Amino acid sequence: MHHKEVIMQPDKRIALVAHDHKKADLVAWAKFNRDLLAHHRVYATGTTGLLLEKELGFPIIKLQSGPLGGDQQIGAKIVEGEIDFLIFFWDPLEPQPHDPDVKALLRMAVVWNIPIACDRASADFMISSPLMDQGYRRLVPDYTAYRTRPLPPSSPVAAT
Ligand code: PGA
Repeated sequence: MHHKEVIMQPDKRIALVAHDHKKADLVAWAKFNRDLLAHHRVYATGTTGLLLEKELGFPIIKLQSGPLGGDQQIGAKIVEGEIDFLIFFWDPLEPQPHDPDVKALLRMAVVWNIPIACDRASADFMISSPLMDQGYRRLVPDYTAYRTRPLPPSSPVAAT
């Protein structure tokens, strides 16, 4: 598959999301890395965002709460090219009312080749990467072949 390059700026647009039993972990991680995060543009789902704003003391762009559509808003922003980076501490031990949205968000991140950290160790490695503070040429698959794929006959006219 061919790829297209999308330039990520040195200041990234980072989305932070944590399920309820993972919020304490994300807040602790974000506090430890506060100064590294402060110059990026930080988005979060509603409740995660409120907690982070209180603890970090800088403004967070707060979307809807996850189960109310916040995960889908972040997914849409990834598709629109408005989010560069996802830190998503999802809970592997707890079913969520919005499980399909969780899966959809993780899927969109991979479709668009967005870096994702789903646990604290991954987030540590990613935040300490020199690429966090540099421009980066992100390779996004060129989906032209998919968009122009042959379709099965869909109308009586095409079928004849
Ligand atoms: P919340 O949503 O930050 O509003 O709790 C997180 C989620 O469950 O996706």
